[in-house]
Amino acid sequence: MIKTRGYAAHSGDQPLQPFHFERRAPGAGDVQIDILYCGVCHSDLHTVRNEWNNTLYPSVPGHEIVGRVSAVGDQVDRLKVGDIVGVGCMVDSCQQCSSCAEGLEQYCDNGFVGTYNGHAFGGSENTYGGYSDNIVVRQEFVLHIRHTDNLAAVAPLLCAGITTYSPLRHWSVGPGQKVGVVGLGGLGHMGVKLARAMGAHVVLITTSPDKRDDALRLGAQEVIVSRDEDQMAAAAGTLDFILNTVAAPHDLNALLSLLKRDGTMTLVGAPAEPHPSPEVFQLIFKRRKLAGSLIGGIAETQEMLDFCAEHDIVSDIEMIPIQEINEAYERMLKGDVRYRFVIDMASLKDD
Ligand code: NAP
Ligand code: ZN
Repeated sequence: MIKTRGYAAHSGDQPLQPFHFERRAPGAGDVQIDILYCGVCHSDLHTVRNEWNNTLYPSVPGHEIVGRVSAVGDQVDRLKVGDIVGVGCMVDSCQQCSSCAEGLEQYCDNGFVGTYNGHAFGGSENTYGGYSDNIVVRQEFVLHIRHTDNLAAVAPLLCAGITTYSPLRHWSVGPGQKVGVVGLGGLGHMGVKLARAMGAHVVLITTSPDKRDDALRLGAQEVIVSRDEDQMAAAAGTLDFILNTVAAPHDLNALLSLLKRDGTMTLVGAPAEPHPSPEVFQLIFKRRKLAGSLIGGIAETQEMLDFCAEHDIVSDIEMIPIQEINEAYERMLKGDVRYRFVIDMASLKDD
C-alpha cells in the first residue's frame, strides 16, 4: 500500500480537512502518479456537500489532475517514469460493453468508475480523487500531456475542457455557425475558447455584466446579459447551438428562444435541483432540441488535449494552496472565480 496525504470532507456540512489514507500499490497495468496540480470543479462542491444525494464519505474530490509518473507496473507500455500525465473524471470502466468499445467509457453500460466517489469494480470501496499527493490508475485512463510549460493551467482541461469539447464536436460546431455559451465559469470559459478555436462565432450569455470584457478577451464576439430582456429579445432565433454550463436551476425557455429552427441546446450543468420544465411550444414551433452531455471518452480527451496543445489553449486560473479550498468553494458559489481555481499540491506538505 502507498501512504497518501490529502483533504477530505467527512460529511456534507463539514469543511474539507487534512486526511491521511492508503492507495493500492500499482498492479501490473497500473501507473502511479505524483500529483502536481488539481483543478477545482463545481462537481467537487456538489459532491462534498452531498447535493446529488450519492456521496460516499470520507470524500476526497478532484478530477482535474496533472502530475508526474513515479512508478509503472510490469505490463505498462504506454508510459514511463517521469512522464507528465493527466487523469480526468474516470479511472476505470468495464471495457466490454458497446459504449466502451466505441470509446465512450463515460456512458459505460456497467457504470464507469469515477476518479472520486466511485465504487471500484469488484469491491465496495470508495475512490479518492486528486486533492491528494499521489494516485494509482490503470494505464488506459492516463492521458499524455504535451503542453507542459503552464501545467497548472492544463489541469482544468481534464474536466472543464473535455466536458465542453465533447458536445461542441458531437454537434459539429464550426465555421459559419453562431454558438451560445451560457455561464462564464470554469466550464463556460473553456467552452468559449474551444468554440472560437473551432471557428464558430461565439456569443456568451451571462448573468454577470461585469464579465463582459473578460468574455471578449477569452474569444466571444458578442455578450448577452440574460437578465436584460431587451438584449435577449434582440437575439431571439439567432443561434445554431447553445452549450449551457449553469450550475443552478434556471428558466430554460428564455434560452431556448435564442435558437434558430432546428437548433439544439445541450445541458452540461448539473444543478442539485431540477430546472423548471420548459414549455413544449418553445420546442415544437421551431423543431428545437434540448439535449445533455456527460464529460467525454478517453480517446476524445486525448484528442482535446492535443487540440489544446496545438492551439495554445489552457484555462485561466487562480492558484490556491490546499488550505484555502473551503474559501474557494464559497467564492465559486458566488460566481467569484476567474475562471478556475487550481490547487498547488506542493502546499500539502504544510499539513
Ligand atoms: P462554475 O465555475 O461555478 O460556473 C458556473 C457558472 O454558472 C457561473 O460562473 C455563472 O456564470 C453561472 N451561474 C451560476 N449560478 C447561476 C444562476 N443561479 N443563474 C444563472 N447562472 C448562474 O461551475 P463549473 O465548474 O463550470 O460547473 C458548472 C456545472 O457543470 C456544475 O453543475 C457542474 O457540476 C457541472 N459539470 C457537469 C459535467 C458534465 O459532464 N455534464 C462535468 C463537469 C461539471 P455567469 O456569472 O456568467 O452567469
Ligand atoms: Zn468536473
